[in-house]
Amino acid sequence: MSRHPAIFVSHGSPMLALDDGPAHRFLAGLGTTLERPKAILVVSAHWESADPLVSAVARPRTIHDFGGFPRALLEMQYPAPGAPDLAARVAALVPGARIDPARGLDHGAWVPLKLAYPAADVPVTQVSVQSHLGPAHALAVGRALRPLRDEGVLIVGSGSLTHNLHEFRSPVQEQPPKSWVVAFADWMAERLDAGDIESLLDYRARAPFGPRNHPTEEHLLPLFTVLGAADAGERLAARHRSYTYGILAMDAWGTAEAA
Ligand code: ZN
Repeated sequence: MSRHPAIFVSHGSPMLALDDGPAHRFLAGLGTTLERPKAILVVSAHWESADPLVSAVARPRTIHDFGGFPRALLEMQYPAPGAPDLAARVAALVPGARIDPARGLDHGAWVPLKLAYPAADVPVTQVSVQSHLGPAHALAVGRALRPLRDEGVLIVGSGSLTHNLHEFRSPVQEQPPKSWVVAFADWMAERLDAGDIESLLDYRARAPFGPRNHPTEEHLLPLFTVLGAADAGERLAARHRSYTYGILAMDAWGTAEAA
C-alpha cells in the first residue's frame, strides 16, 4: 500500500457546506484527487481537551456545534462509519492519548468531508487539539501520527489559516481580504514553502499580525500536526489558497501525495 498524504484544510464558516465558492469547489474535488484511504483521521480545531483524546465510536453522530445557521445546515448529516480500530492505534501512538467512547464528528470534521467524500463511506475518527500546549506540542502529535500514513490512513488537519471572528463585518463571502490577513497568509506561505519550521513555530512573534489573525490558537494548530506528519525534510505545498468574508484565509497545505 502506498503512502497516504497529510493535508491541512481551512473549513471556514459552516456555510462552506452549502455555499459555492473557490474553497468549496477545491474541497469538493479533493476526494477524487487522492488515493482512496482505508480510514480518515481528522484533527479538528473544534475539539479541544487537556490531554489528547481520540473518539472510538462505531457510528459517530453528526454534531451541529454552531448556531444561527439555516435549517438545511442544521439538518445535514454525515453518516460515515467510525474507526474504533484506528482510534486504538492512535491512542497507542500518541503519548498520553486516551479513548473517548462517545464523541461524534464536529463541523470541523464533517463540513470538509461532506464535500470531499460525499458518499460518507470512508470510516472516520477524530483526535483532539491541546490549545494550551501550543504549536510545538501539535507538531509532536503529528510526528507520533506519521506511521499511520503507511497504514492506509489519510490525516486531515481542519482549522483555518487565519481566524479572527471578532473582525467579521459582513456576510458577503466574496470581498477583498483585509491587508493584515493577506500579510499573515503570505508570510505563512513563504515560510511553509521554505520548510522553515523554526519560524513557523514562533509565528505569534515573527509573523505580521500573528495574534490579530489568531486571538486563540486552536484553528492554526492542526496545521502544525500536519507539518509533523510530513517526513523530515518534506515540505508542505499549497493545494489551495483563497479568502472568504475578507478575514478567513481558506488555504489548504499538504504533503506531496496530496498533489
Ligand atoms: Zn472552525
